[in-house]
Amino acid sequence: MNTTSYRSQVLIIGTGLSGCTTALTLADKGFKVHLVCPTDALEPGNSNLAQGGIVYVHNNPQEAASLENDMLIAGHHYNFIKAVRFLAQEGGESVHKILIERLGVPFNSRSSNTADWDLTLEGGHSAPRILHCADYTGKSIMESLHCAIRNHENIQVLSNRSAVDLITTDHHTPITSYRYKLKNQCVGAYVFNDITSQVESHLSDMTILATGGVGDIFLHSTNNPWSVGAGISMAQRAGVRLANMEFVQFHPTALYDIDKKRPLITEAVRGEGGKLIDHHGYRFMQKYDGRKDLAPRDIVSQAIVNEMLRTGEQNVFLDATQLECDVTKRFPTVFDSCMKIGIDIRKDYIPVVPAAHYFCGGILVDLNGRSTLDNLYAVGECSCTGIHGANRLASTSLLEAVLWGLSAGNDIAHALSSQDTFDEKLFNSIPDWEHTGNEHNDDPALIAQDWASIRNIMWNYVGIVRTESRLRRAFADLRDLSSHLHDFYRHTPLSSTLVKLFHGCQTAYLITQSALRNKNSAGCHHRAD
Ligand SMILES: Cc1cc2nc3c(=O)[nH]c(=O)nc-3n(C[C@H](O)[C@H](O)[C@H](O)COP(=O)(O)OP(=O)(O)OC[C@H]3O[C@@H](n4cnc5c(N)ncnc54)[C@H](O)[C@@H]3O)c2cc1C
Repeated sequence: MNTTSYRSQVLIIGTGLSGCTTALTLADKGFKVHLVCPTDALEPGNSNLAQGGIVYVHNNPQEAASLENDMLIAGHHYNFIKAVRFLAQEGGESVHKILIERLGVPFNSRSSNTADWDLTLEGGHSAPRILHCADYTGKSIMESLHCAIRNHENIQVLSNRSAVDLITTDHHTPITSYRYKLKNQCVGAYVFNDITSQVESHLSDMTILATGGVGDIFLHSTNNPWSVGAGISMAQRAGVRLANMEFVQFHPTALYDIDKKRPLITEAVRGEGGKLIDHHGYRFMQKYDGRKDLAPRDIVSQAIVNEMLRTGEQNVFLDATQLECDVTKRFPTVFDSCMKIGIDIRKDYIPVVPAAHYFCGGILVDLNGRSTLDNLYAVGECSCTGIHGANRLASTSLLEAVLWGLSAGNDIAHALSSQDTFDEKLFNSIPDWEHTGNEHNDDPALIAQDWASIRNIMWNYVGIVRTESRLRRAFADLRDLSSHLHDFYRHTPLSSTLVKLFHGCQTAYLITQSALRNKNSAGCHHRAD
Protein backbone atom coordinates (compact mmCIF):
# COMPACT_ATOMS: atom_id res chain seq x y z
CA MET A 1 0.00 0.00 0.00
CA ASN A 2 1.37 3.46 -0.93
CA THR A 3 1.18 5.82 2.03
CA THR A 4 0.83 9.59 1.91
CA SER A 5 4.04 11.49 1.88
CA TYR A 6 4.63 15.16 2.81
CA ARG A 7 7.58 17.31 1.81
CA SER A 8 8.56 20.47 3.70
CA GLN A 9 11.45 22.84 4.40
CA VAL A 10 10.85 22.61 8.13
CA LEU A 11 8.96 19.96 10.09
CA ILE A 12 8.14 20.77 13.72
CA ILE A 13 6.70 18.10 16.00
CA GLY A 14 4.80 19.59 18.94
CA THR A 15 2.67 22.72 19.25
CA GLY A 16 3.51 23.94 22.77
CA LEU A 17 5.47 27.13 23.46
CA SER A 18 8.82 25.91 22.13
CA GLY A 19 7.54 24.39 18.87
CA CYS A 20 5.29 27.36 18.11
CA THR A 21 8.01 29.94 18.89
CA THR A 22 10.34 28.15 16.47
CA ALA A 23 7.57 27.98 13.85
CA LEU A 24 6.71 31.66 14.16
CA THR A 25 10.36 32.74 14.00
CA LEU A 26 10.88 30.80 10.77
CA ALA A 27 7.54 31.68 9.21
CA ASP A 28 8.12 35.40 9.89
CA LYS A 29 11.34 35.06 7.90
CA GLY A 30 9.46 33.56 4.96
CA PHE A 31 10.18 29.83 5.44
CA LYS A 32 7.46 27.23 4.95
CA VAL A 33 6.74 25.27 8.11
CA HIS A 34 4.74 22.08 8.75
CA LEU A 35 3.56 21.77 12.35
CA VAL A 36 2.45 18.33 13.52
CA CYS A 37 0.01 18.04 16.41
CA PRO A 38 -1.78 15.01 17.92
CA THR A 39 -5.27 16.45 18.41
CA ASP A 40 -7.78 18.11 16.07
CA ALA A 41 -7.04 21.63 17.32
CA LEU A 42 -3.61 23.05 18.14
CA GLU A 43 -2.57 21.13 21.26
CA PRO A 44 -0.90 23.52 23.75
CA GLY A 45 0.77 20.83 25.93
CA ASN A 46 2.15 21.67 29.34
CA SER A 47 2.69 25.25 28.19
CA ASN A 48 -1.02 25.85 28.67
CA LEU A 49 -0.85 24.74 32.30
CA ALA A 50 1.93 27.10 33.42
CA GLN A 51 0.62 29.17 36.30
CA GLY A 52 3.47 30.98 38.03
CA GLY A 53 5.01 32.87 35.14
CA ILE A 54 8.17 33.50 33.18
CA VAL A 55 11.46 34.99 34.37
CA TYR A 56 12.01 38.48 32.98
CA VAL A 57 15.39 40.14 33.39
CA HIS A 58 15.83 42.73 30.67
CA ASN A 59 18.75 45.15 30.12
CA ASN A 60 19.99 44.71 33.67
CA PRO A 61 23.45 43.05 33.88
CA GLN A 62 23.47 43.01 37.69
CA GLU A 63 20.12 41.21 37.82
CA ALA A 64 21.28 38.82 35.08
CA ALA A 65 24.31 37.89 37.20
CA SER A 66 22.07 37.33 40.20
CA LEU A 67 19.71 35.12 38.12
CA GLU A 68 22.70 33.12 36.90
CA ASN A 69 23.79 32.59 40.48
CA ASP A 70 20.30 31.47 41.60
CA MET A 71 20.12 28.98 38.71
CA LEU A 72 23.49 27.49 39.60
CA ILE A 73 22.50 27.13 43.25
CA ALA A 74 19.15 25.51 42.37
CA GLY A 75 20.89 23.26 39.80
CA HIS A 76 23.55 22.14 42.33
CA HIS A 77 26.25 23.50 39.97
CA TYR A 78 25.53 20.60 37.65
CA ASN A 79 24.48 23.19 35.03
CA PHE A 80 26.22 24.10 31.77
CA ILE A 81 27.44 27.58 32.66
CA LYS A 82 27.53 28.82 29.05
CA ALA A 83 23.84 27.97 28.61
CA VAL A 84 22.88 29.49 31.97
CA ARG A 85 24.65 32.74 31.05
CA PHE A 86 23.00 32.75 27.62
CA LEU A 87 19.56 32.46 29.26
CA ALA A 88 20.30 35.05 31.96
CA GLN A 89 21.71 37.59 29.50
CA GLU A 90 19.64 37.02 26.34
CA GLY A 91 16.38 35.61 27.72
CA GLY A 92 14.83 38.99 28.59
CA GLU A 93 15.25 40.29 25.06
CA SER A 94 13.54 37.18 23.61
CA VAL A 95 10.54 37.70 25.94
CA HIS A 96 10.42 41.36 25.04
CA LYS A 97 10.68 40.71 21.31
CA ILE A 98 8.28 37.77 20.97
CA LEU A 99 5.84 37.74 23.87
CA ILE A 100 5.53 41.49 24.51
CA GLU A 101 6.15 43.15 21.13
CA ARG A 102 5.18 40.47 18.58
CA LEU A 103 2.28 38.84 20.45
CA GLY A 104 1.18 41.47 22.97
CA VAL A 105 0.62 38.96 25.81
CA PRO A 106 -1.33 40.82 28.53
CA PHE A 107 1.09 40.41 31.45
CA ASN A 108 0.03 41.99 34.74
CA SER A 109 1.41 45.45 35.43
CA ARG A 110 1.32 47.49 38.63
CA SER A 111 -0.04 50.66 37.10
CA SER A 112 -1.68 51.91 33.94
CA ASN A 113 1.82 52.08 32.45
CA THR A 114 1.95 48.59 30.90
CA ALA A 115 5.74 48.39 31.19
CA ASP A 116 5.54 48.79 35.00
CA TRP A 117 5.41 44.99 35.28
CA ASP A 118 4.08 43.26 38.37
CA LEU A 119 7.13 41.05 38.95
CA THR A 120 6.63 38.35 41.55
CA LEU A 121 8.87 36.05 43.61
CA GLU A 122 9.17 32.25 43.54
CA GLY A 123 11.18 29.62 45.42
CA GLY A 124 14.96 29.78 44.84
CA HIS A 125 14.86 33.32 43.37
CA SER A 126 16.70 36.03 45.30
CA ALA A 127 14.54 38.82 43.82
CA PRO A 128 11.03 39.29 42.39
CA ARG A 129 11.54 38.82 38.63
CA ILE A 130 8.63 36.68 37.41
CA LEU A 131 6.31 38.15 34.80
CA HIS A 132 2.81 36.67 34.98
CA CYS A 133 -0.82 36.88 33.88
CA ALA A 134 -2.55 36.25 37.25
CA ASP A 135 -2.02 32.47 37.66
CA TYR A 136 -2.86 31.49 34.08
CA THR A 137 0.31 32.76 32.38
CA GLY A 138 0.71 29.74 30.09
CA LYS A 139 -2.88 29.93 28.88
CA SER A 140 -2.56 33.63 28.01
CA ILE A 141 0.72 33.10 26.17
CA MET A 142 -0.59 30.10 24.21
CA GLU A 143 -3.82 31.85 23.21
CA SER A 144 -1.84 34.71 21.65
CA LEU A 145 0.72 32.39 20.07
CA HIS A 146 -1.79 29.93 18.60
CA CYS A 147 -3.77 32.82 17.16
CA ALA A 148 -0.63 34.04 15.33
CA ILE A 149 0.15 30.48 14.16
CA ARG A 150 -3.37 29.86 12.83
CA ASN A 151 -3.31 33.08 10.83
CA HIS A 152 0.18 32.70 9.35
CA GLU A 153 0.30 31.96 5.64
CA ASN A 154 3.66 30.18 5.92
CA ILE A 155 2.53 27.68 8.53
CA GLN A 156 0.51 24.56 7.77
CA VAL A 157 -0.86 22.76 10.82
CA LEU A 158 -1.18 18.99 10.31
CA SER A 159 -3.52 17.89 13.06
CA ASN A 160 -4.58 14.47 14.42
CA ARG A 161 -1.07 13.17 13.91
CA SER A 162 1.43 11.70 16.33
CA ALA A 163 5.07 11.16 15.45
CA VAL A 164 6.26 7.56 15.58
CA ASP A 165 9.92 7.57 14.54
CA LEU A 166 12.59 9.74 12.94
CA ILE A 167 13.75 9.06 9.39
CA THR A 168 17.53 9.13 8.95
CA THR A 169 19.98 8.59 6.09
CA ASP A 170 21.75 5.79 8.00
CA HIS A 171 18.60 3.84 8.63
CA HIS A 172 16.33 4.55 5.72
CA THR A 173 17.93 5.38 2.39
CA PRO A 174 19.47 2.78 0.07
CA ILE A 175 21.48 5.54 -1.75
CA THR A 176 25.11 4.64 -1.19
CA SER A 177 26.52 8.18 -1.23
CA TYR A 178 24.40 8.89 1.88
CA ARG A 179 24.89 5.52 3.53
CA TYR A 180 28.69 5.89 3.46
CA LYS A 181 28.70 9.39 4.93
CA LEU A 182 30.36 9.47 8.35
CA LYS A 183 27.57 11.58 9.78
CA ASN A 184 24.01 10.41 10.01
CA GLN A 185 21.37 13.00 8.97
CA CYS A 186 17.72 13.42 9.86
CA VAL A 187 15.35 13.53 6.88
CA GLY A 188 12.00 13.88 8.67
CA ALA A 189 9.68 11.55 10.58
CA TYR A 190 7.11 8.81 10.22
CA VAL A 191 3.84 10.15 11.59
CA PHE A 192 0.63 8.30 12.46
CA ASN A 193 -2.56 9.87 11.09
CA ASP A 194 -5.42 9.22 13.49
CA ILE A 195 -8.13 9.86 10.89
CA THR A 196 -6.82 7.57 8.10
CA SER A 197 -5.00 5.16 10.47
CA GLN A 198 -2.00 5.38 8.13
CA VAL A 199 1.62 6.06 8.93
CA GLU A 200 2.71 8.93 6.67
CA SER A 201 6.24 9.87 5.63
CA HIS A 202 6.97 13.54 6.46
CA LEU A 203 10.19 14.39 4.62
CA SER A 204 11.96 17.57 5.50
CA ASP A 205 15.23 19.51 5.25
CA MET A 206 15.12 20.34 8.95
CA THR A 207 13.26 18.50 11.71
CA ILE A 208 12.56 19.95 15.15
CA LEU A 209 11.43 17.92 18.14
CA ALA A 210 9.30 19.98 20.54
CA THR A 211 7.34 17.20 22.22
CA GLY A 212 7.58 18.38 25.84
CA GLY A 213 8.18 16.49 29.08
CA VAL A 214 7.71 13.07 30.66
CA GLY A 215 5.49 13.65 33.74
CA ASP A 216 2.61 11.46 32.61
CA ILE A 217 4.68 8.27 32.91
CA PHE A 218 4.42 8.73 36.71
CA LEU A 219 1.39 7.80 38.78
CA HIS A 220 1.04 11.31 40.24
CA SER A 221 1.73 14.10 37.81
CA THR A 222 0.80 17.70 37.11
CA ASN A 223 1.39 17.16 33.36
CA ASN A 224 -0.73 17.05 30.25
CA PRO A 225 -1.46 13.49 28.90
CA TRP A 226 0.94 13.92 25.95
CA SER A 227 3.93 14.29 28.26
CA VAL A 228 5.36 10.79 27.79
CA GLY A 229 8.77 11.61 26.27
CA ALA A 230 7.86 10.88 22.62
CA GLY A 231 10.68 13.01 21.19
CA ILE A 232 13.20 11.54 23.60
CA SER A 233 12.32 7.96 22.73
CA MET A 234 12.41 8.70 18.96
CA ALA A 235 15.78 10.45 19.32
CA GLN A 236 17.22 7.56 21.28
CA ARG A 237 16.17 5.05 18.61
CA ALA A 238 17.88 7.23 15.99
CA GLY A 239 21.12 7.18 17.98
CA VAL A 240 20.95 10.80 19.20
CA ARG A 241 22.80 11.68 22.40
CA LEU A 242 20.65 12.22 25.50
CA ALA A 243 21.76 13.81 28.77
CA ASN A 244 20.76 14.09 32.45
CA MET A 245 17.99 11.52 32.00
CA GLU A 246 17.75 10.76 35.75
CA PHE A 247 16.70 14.31 36.68
CA VAL A 248 12.91 14.42 37.02
CA GLN A 249 11.67 17.35 39.07
CA PHE A 250 8.77 16.75 41.43
CA HIS A 251 6.68 19.78 42.27
CA PRO A 252 6.16 19.96 46.04
CA THR A 253 2.58 21.19 45.94
CA ALA A 254 0.00 19.45 43.79
CA LEU A 255 -3.57 19.42 45.10
CA TYR A 256 -4.22 16.19 46.98
CA ASP A 257 -7.55 14.64 46.10
CA ILE A 258 -7.84 10.86 46.38
CA ASP A 259 -7.58 9.05 43.02
CA LYS A 260 -7.70 12.22 40.96
CA LYS A 261 -5.22 13.98 38.66
CA ARG A 262 -3.09 16.50 40.47
CA PRO A 263 -3.76 20.15 39.61
CA LEU A 264 -0.81 22.35 40.49
CA ILE A 265 -0.78 24.77 43.40
CA THR A 266 1.70 27.27 42.03
CA GLU A 267 4.86 28.05 43.95
CA ALA A 268 3.84 31.72 43.74
CA VAL A 269 1.35 30.98 46.57
CA ARG A 270 4.39 30.40 48.78
CA GLY A 271 6.07 33.38 47.09
CA GLU A 272 3.17 35.54 48.32
CA GLY A 273 3.50 34.17 51.87
CA GLY A 274 1.79 30.72 51.93
CA LYS A 275 3.25 28.29 54.51
CA LEU A 276 3.54 24.51 54.55
CA ILE A 277 2.17 22.89 57.70
CA ASP A 278 1.65 19.36 59.01
CA HIS A 279 -1.62 17.78 60.18
CA HIS A 280 -1.26 19.49 63.58
CA GLY A 281 -0.87 22.92 62.01
CA TYR A 282 2.91 23.14 62.69
CA ARG A 283 5.34 24.59 60.16
CA PHE A 284 8.16 22.18 59.30
CA MET A 285 10.33 23.66 56.52
CA GLN A 286 12.66 25.41 59.02
CA LYS A 287 13.91 21.91 60.00
CA TYR A 288 15.15 21.28 56.46
CA ASP A 289 16.46 24.54 54.99
CA GLY A 290 17.20 28.12 56.03
CA ARG A 291 15.09 29.38 53.12
CA LYS A 292 12.12 27.54 54.66
CA ASP A 293 9.04 27.43 52.39
CA LEU A 294 10.93 29.14 49.57
CA ALA A 295 13.75 26.61 49.35
CA PRO A 296 14.24 25.08 45.85
CA ARG A 297 11.77 22.41 44.78
CA ASP A 298 13.93 19.32 45.30
CA ILE A 299 14.48 20.26 48.95
CA VAL A 300 10.81 21.09 49.59
CA SER A 301 9.59 17.86 47.88
CA GLN A 302 11.98 15.68 49.87
CA ALA A 303 10.99 17.48 53.08
CA ILE A 304 7.30 16.83 52.41
CA VAL A 305 7.94 13.13 51.68
CA ASN A 306 9.90 12.93 54.90
CA GLU A 307 7.06 14.55 56.88
CA MET A 308 4.52 12.21 55.28
CA LEU A 309 6.65 9.17 56.19
CA ARG A 310 7.24 10.51 59.73
CA THR A 311 3.56 11.13 60.42
CA GLY A 312 2.11 8.31 58.29
CA GLU A 313 -0.21 10.82 56.59
CA GLN A 314 -1.03 10.90 52.85
CA ASN A 315 -0.40 14.64 52.46
CA VAL A 316 0.64 17.86 54.18
CA PHE A 317 -1.14 21.24 53.97
CA LEU A 318 -0.48 24.65 52.49
CA ASP A 319 -1.83 27.53 54.53
CA ALA A 320 -2.81 30.39 52.21
CA THR A 321 -5.36 31.88 54.61
CA GLN A 322 -3.07 34.73 55.68
CA LEU A 323 -2.10 36.05 52.23
CA GLU A 324 -2.39 39.80 51.88
CA CYS A 325 -3.51 39.69 48.25
CA ASP A 326 -7.05 38.92 47.05
CA VAL A 327 -6.56 35.23 46.21
CA THR A 328 -9.60 35.13 43.93
CA LYS A 329 -7.87 37.66 41.66
CA ARG A 330 -4.21 36.71 42.14
CA PHE A 331 -4.76 32.92 42.03
CA PRO A 332 -8.07 32.30 40.21
CA THR A 333 -6.97 28.94 38.78
CA VAL A 334 -5.87 27.62 42.18
CA PHE A 335 -8.99 29.06 43.79
CA ASP A 336 -11.28 27.30 41.28
CA SER A 337 -9.43 23.94 41.42
CA CYS A 338 -9.74 23.92 45.21
CA MET A 339 -13.36 25.10 45.22
CA LYS A 340 -14.25 22.15 42.95
CA ILE A 341 -13.38 19.81 45.82
CA GLY A 342 -15.00 22.02 48.47
CA ILE A 343 -11.89 23.82 49.73
CA ASP A 344 -12.13 27.59 50.12
CA ILE A 345 -8.48 28.67 50.26
CA ARG A 346 -9.44 31.93 52.00
CA LYS A 347 -10.28 29.93 55.14
CA ASP A 348 -9.33 26.26 54.59
CA TYR A 349 -5.87 24.69 54.45
CA ILE A 350 -5.02 23.16 51.05
CA PRO A 351 -4.07 19.44 51.12
CA VAL A 352 -0.94 18.99 48.98
CA VAL A 353 1.46 16.24 47.85
CA PRO A 354 4.47 16.28 45.51
CA ALA A 355 3.91 15.12 41.90
CA ALA A 356 6.12 14.56 38.82
CA HIS A 357 6.33 17.94 37.17
CA TYR A 358 9.30 18.79 34.98
CA PHE A 359 12.06 16.97 33.10
CA CYS A 360 15.53 18.53 33.43
CA GLY A 361 17.18 16.01 31.06
CA GLY A 362 16.50 15.09 27.45
CA ILE A 363 18.01 15.45 23.98
CA LEU A 364 21.41 17.11 24.30
CA VAL A 365 21.51 20.39 22.33
CA ASP A 366 23.77 23.41 21.92
CA LEU A 367 22.83 27.10 22.27
CA ASN A 368 21.05 26.92 18.90
CA GLY A 369 19.06 23.78 19.68
CA ARG A 370 21.20 21.58 17.41
CA SER A 371 21.31 17.93 18.47
CA THR A 372 24.09 15.42 17.77
CA LEU A 373 22.18 14.23 14.67
CA ASP A 374 22.63 16.52 11.65
CA ASN A 375 19.47 18.40 10.56
CA LEU A 376 17.71 17.51 13.83
CA TYR A 377 16.98 20.19 16.45
CA ALA A 378 15.24 19.89 19.81
CA VAL A 379 13.64 22.73 21.77
CA GLY A 380 11.80 23.12 25.06
CA GLU A 381 11.31 20.47 27.70
CA CYS A 382 12.30 17.50 25.52
CA SER A 383 15.77 19.02 25.10
CA CYS A 384 18.65 19.23 27.55
CA THR A 385 20.35 22.61 27.15
CA GLY A 386 22.14 22.24 30.48
CA ILE A 387 20.49 25.31 32.05
CA HIS A 388 18.74 23.34 34.78
CA GLY A 389 21.61 21.10 35.87
CA ALA A 390 20.33 18.77 38.56
CA ASN A 391 17.24 20.82 39.35
CA ARG A 392 15.22 23.54 37.63
CA LEU A 393 14.79 27.00 39.11
CA ALA A 394 11.10 28.00 39.03
CA SER A 395 9.78 29.82 35.94
CA THR A 396 12.92 29.32 33.85
CA SER A 397 11.41 26.67 31.56
CA LEU A 398 8.94 28.92 29.72
CA LEU A 399 11.89 31.24 29.17
CA GLU A 400 14.02 28.35 27.88
CA ALA A 401 11.20 27.43 25.45
CA VAL A 402 11.03 31.01 24.10
CA LEU A 403 14.78 31.66 23.93
CA TRP A 404 15.71 28.33 22.34
CA GLY A 405 12.67 28.49 20.04
CA LEU A 406 13.99 31.82 18.81
CA SER A 407 17.65 30.81 18.55
CA ALA A 408 16.83 27.49 16.82
CA GLY A 409 14.57 29.37 14.40
CA ASN A 410 17.35 31.86 13.59
CA ASP A 411 19.95 29.11 13.20
CA ILE A 412 17.73 27.01 10.92
CA ALA A 413 16.94 30.07 8.79
CA HIS A 414 20.65 30.73 8.41
CA ALA A 415 21.41 27.08 7.60
CA LEU A 416 18.61 26.81 5.02
CA SER A 417 19.83 29.96 3.30
CA SER A 418 23.50 29.05 3.27
CA GLN A 419 23.89 25.28 3.04
CA ASP A 420 22.80 22.65 0.53
CA THR A 421 19.40 21.16 1.19
CA PHE A 422 18.55 17.50 0.48
CA ASP A 423 18.04 16.51 -3.16
CA GLU A 424 14.78 15.02 -4.40
CA LYS A 425 16.56 11.73 -5.14
CA LEU A 426 17.12 11.22 -1.43
CA PHE A 427 13.50 11.97 -0.55
CA ASN A 428 12.26 9.65 -3.28
CA SER A 429 14.43 6.83 -1.92
CA ILE A 430 12.86 6.83 1.55
CA PRO A 431 10.64 3.76 1.91
CA ASP A 432 7.08 3.90 3.20
CA TRP A 433 6.52 2.76 6.77
CA GLU A 434 6.52 -1.00 6.93
CA HIS A 435 3.13 -2.12 8.16
CA THR A 436 3.24 -5.00 10.59
CA GLY A 437 0.33 -7.24 11.54
CA ASN A 438 -3.37 -6.98 10.96
CA GLU A 439 -4.68 -8.65 14.09
CA HIS A 440 -6.87 -6.23 16.05
CA ASN A 441 -5.71 -6.95 19.57
CA ASP A 442 -5.14 -3.47 21.01
CA ASP A 443 -7.58 -4.27 23.80
CA PRO A 444 -8.08 -1.10 25.93
CA ALA A 445 -7.97 -3.18 29.12
CA LEU A 446 -4.48 -4.45 28.21
CA ILE A 447 -3.26 -0.96 27.37
CA ALA A 448 -4.69 0.44 30.61
CA GLN A 449 -2.92 -2.30 32.57
CA ASP A 450 0.41 -1.65 30.81
CA TRP A 451 0.11 2.05 31.65
CA ALA A 452 -0.79 1.24 35.27
CA SER A 453 2.36 -0.91 35.51
CA ILE A 454 4.63 1.76 34.03
CA ARG A 455 3.21 4.54 36.21
CA ASN A 456 3.34 2.53 39.43
CA ILE A 457 6.89 1.33 38.74
CA MET A 458 8.05 4.89 38.05
CA TRP A 459 6.31 6.35 41.10
CA ASN A 460 7.29 3.67 43.62
CA TYR A 461 10.79 2.77 42.43
CA VAL A 462 12.04 5.75 40.38
CA GLY A 463 10.31 8.53 42.35
CA ILE A 464 11.43 11.25 44.76
CA VAL A 465 13.61 8.96 46.89
CA ARG A 466 15.56 6.26 45.02
CA THR A 467 17.62 3.27 46.12
CA GLU A 468 19.72 0.70 44.25
CA SER A 469 17.28 -2.13 45.00
CA ARG A 470 14.20 -0.13 43.92
CA LEU A 471 15.93 0.95 40.70
CA ARG A 472 17.13 -2.58 39.89
CA ARG A 473 13.62 -3.87 40.34
CA ALA A 474 12.22 -1.10 38.10
CA PHE A 475 14.86 -1.77 35.45
CA ALA A 476 14.08 -5.49 35.30
CA ASP A 477 10.30 -4.91 35.27
CA LEU A 478 10.50 -2.29 32.51
CA ARG A 479 12.85 -4.40 30.39
CA ASP A 480 10.37 -7.30 30.59
CA LEU A 481 7.43 -5.05 29.88
CA SER A 482 9.20 -3.49 26.92
CA SER A 483 10.05 -6.82 25.29
CA HIS A 484 6.55 -8.11 26.06
CA LEU A 485 5.07 -5.01 24.38
CA HIS A 486 7.19 -5.53 21.28
CA ASP A 487 6.24 -9.21 20.97
CA PHE A 488 2.58 -8.72 21.72
CA TYR A 489 1.97 -5.77 19.47
CA ARG A 490 4.05 -6.99 16.54
CA HIS A 491 0.82 -8.31 15.04
CA THR A 492 -1.30 -5.28 15.90
CA PRO A 493 -2.05 -2.36 13.55
CA LEU A 494 -0.70 0.91 14.91
CA SER A 495 -2.93 3.40 16.75
CA SER A 496 -2.09 6.68 18.49
CA THR A 497 -2.72 4.95 21.85
CA LEU A 498 -0.11 2.35 21.02
CA VAL A 499 2.36 4.94 19.75
CA LYS A 500 2.07 6.74 23.07
CA LEU A 501 2.44 3.56 25.09
CA PHE A 502 5.65 2.57 23.25
CA HIS A 503 7.16 6.03 23.68
CA GLY A 504 6.19 6.10 27.38
CA CYS A 505 7.62 2.65 28.10
CA GLN A 506 10.92 3.44 26.41
CA THR A 507 11.23 6.79 28.19
CA ALA A 508 10.59 5.11 31.54
CA TYR A 509 13.28 2.54 30.77
CA LEU A 510 15.83 5.24 29.81
CA ILE A 511 15.18 7.31 32.95
CA THR A 512 15.53 4.22 35.13
CA GLN A 513 18.76 3.18 33.41
CA SER A 514 20.33 6.61 34.05
CA ALA A 515 19.09 6.73 37.64
CA LEU A 516 20.65 3.32 38.24
CA ARG A 517 23.99 4.42 36.77
CA ASN A 518 24.25 7.63 38.80
CA LYS A 519 24.99 6.66 42.38
CA ASN A 520 25.41 10.25 43.60
CA SER A 521 22.53 12.31 44.94
CA ALA A 522 22.20 15.76 43.42
CA GLY A 523 19.14 17.97 43.07
CA CYS A 524 16.11 16.02 41.98
CA HIS A 525 18.01 12.72 41.70
CA HIS A 526 17.96 11.66 45.34
CA ARG A 527 19.62 8.33 46.23
CA ALA A 528 18.83 7.30 49.80
CA ASP A 529 21.62 4.67 49.72
C1 LIG B 1 1.08 22.46 35.78
C2 LIG B 1 2.34 23.07 35.24
C3 LIG B 1 2.69 24.36 35.60
C4 LIG B 1 3.87 24.94 35.10
N1 LIG B 1 4.17 26.23 35.44
C5 LIG B 1 5.28 26.81 34.91
C6 LIG B 1 5.57 28.18 35.16
O1 LIG B 1 4.83 28.89 35.85
N2 LIG B 1 6.69 28.70 34.60
C7 LIG B 1 7.56 27.97 33.82
O2 LIG B 1 8.57 28.51 33.34
N3 LIG B 1 7.28 26.68 33.56
C8 LIG B 1 6.17 26.09 34.07
N4 LIG B 1 5.89 24.78 33.77
C9 LIG B 1 6.75 24.06 32.82
C10 LIG B 1 6.46 24.57 31.41
O3 LIG B 1 5.07 24.73 31.26
C11 LIG B 1 6.98 23.60 30.36
O4 LIG B 1 8.29 23.23 30.63
C12 LIG B 1 6.95 24.21 28.97
O5 LIG B 1 5.68 24.76 28.73
C13 LIG B 1 7.29 23.16 27.94
O6 LIG B 1 7.01 23.66 26.66
P1 LIG B 1 7.25 22.69 25.42
O7 LIG B 1 6.87 23.44 24.22
O8 LIG B 1 8.61 22.14 25.49
O9 LIG B 1 6.27 21.44 25.68
P2 LIG B 1 4.67 21.37 25.72
O10 LIG B 1 4.06 22.68 25.95
O11 LIG B 1 4.32 20.29 26.68
O12 LIG B 1 4.30 20.93 24.23
C14 LIG B 1 4.60 19.65 23.76
C15 LIG B 1 3.81 19.40 22.49
O13 LIG B 1 4.22 18.17 21.88
C16 LIG B 1 3.07 17.45 21.47
N5 LIG B 1 3.43 16.04 21.33
C17 LIG B 1 3.84 15.16 22.28
N6 LIG B 1 4.06 13.95 21.74
C18 LIG B 1 3.81 14.07 20.41
C19 LIG B 1 3.88 13.17 19.32
N7 LIG B 1 4.25 11.89 19.44
N8 LIG B 1 3.56 13.64 18.07
C20 LIG B 1 3.16 14.93 17.89
N9 LIG B 1 3.10 15.82 18.90
C21 LIG B 1 3.41 15.40 20.14
C22 LIG B 1 2.05 17.77 22.54
O14 LIG B 1 0.77 17.49 22.13
C23 LIG B 1 2.32 19.28 22.71
O15 LIG B 1 1.65 19.99 21.70
C24 LIG B 1 4.72 24.19 34.26
C25 LIG B 1 4.38 22.88 33.91
C26 LIG B 1 3.20 22.33 34.38
C27 LIG B 1 2.85 20.91 34.00
